[in-house]
Amino acid sequence: MLRRLKRTMVYLSLLILMGIFPLAGSKADDTDPGPKFDAKRSFEYLTSVCRLKSRISGSPGMAAQQKLILEHFKELKAKVQFQSFDAPHPITGNPVRMNNMIVSWNPEAKKRILLACHYDTRPFPDRDRNQPQGLFIGANDGGSGVAFLMELGNVMSSLKVSHGYGVDFVFFDGEELVYRQNDPYFLGSKYFASQYKNEPREFEYVYGVLLDMIADKNLGIYMEKNSLKYAPQLTRSIWEAARKTGVREFIPQAKYEIRDDHLPLNEIAGIPTCDIIDFDYPVWHTTRDIPRYCSGNSLEKVGTVLIYWLQNLPEG
Ligand SMILES: [Zn+2]
Repeated sequence: MLRRLKRTMVYLSLLILMGIFPLAGSKADDTDPGPKFDAKRSFEYLTSVCRLKSRISGSPGMAAQQKLILEHFKELKAKVQFQSFDAPHPITGNPVRMNNMIVSWNPEAKKRILLACHYDTRPFPDRDRNQPQGLFIGANDGGSGVAFLMELGNVMSSLKVSHGYGVDFVFFDGEELVYRQNDPYFLGSKYFASQYKNEPREFEYVYGVLLDMIADKNLGIYMEKNSLKYAPQLTRSIWEAARKTGVREFIPQAKYEIRDDHLPLNEIAGIPTCDIIDFDYPVWHTTRDIPRYCSGNSLEKVGTVLIYWLQNLPEG
């Protein structure tokens, strides 16, 4: 064994001398993987959001979450804005204060990329056969997008976004303030999209990417049909980024047609937007949508793809 070890060491030293196997701390080259999304830290964000219990629009849990997000991104020196409006509560009709949160990187850039998630949680886990009125935590459905963007925020300053585009993270409120079948969905994204369309502004979103339910331990993300309909080139470019980075959990086949916050962005705002969503999540809308069924490794996989994509954007 000793002889073999020695021989290995000689071989390694040779490789180092030849520059094939660079020493730690040596200059970055073409093989430099670039900024790194941290799985463990992203999962800590997910659990800290879930510790707030439910984050229903207008609730104390939502207010606590807003504080947590605001402090996180202020510390990272991003520009944070609240886009506030009132929406009638679907049961009482009383106004509910809604807040979309907009976190801007490189805020002066006139061409921008929109990365969005919803950050409210559904009032009740109505698909839970035993406890349809129980506590809904929304670790994946609500928590995963927030945790993802919080961790991505840590690497934004070291990213070289293609064409010098700016990036906005948008946290939509009121995605599912729904109690009954016909209650309106997507309150925050509808408001955001109509403001974008109707109010004067000095910038334009080239692409939008929506992130929803991306922390499933058993990750498998198919191309979503409405994304392929409204933003085919963009959608393919993301699955191409997954192929290039070796993330096999992005499966280049269409599976579900999903109504989500990307519809108002595509239909009202006219921003080509793709929904990245893993819809095969057995505990969806139950009391068991908790961190135990989620994984930081899944968030990291999505991070690897989007970090590559942001640095290799297709022509807009
Ligand atoms: Zn949901």
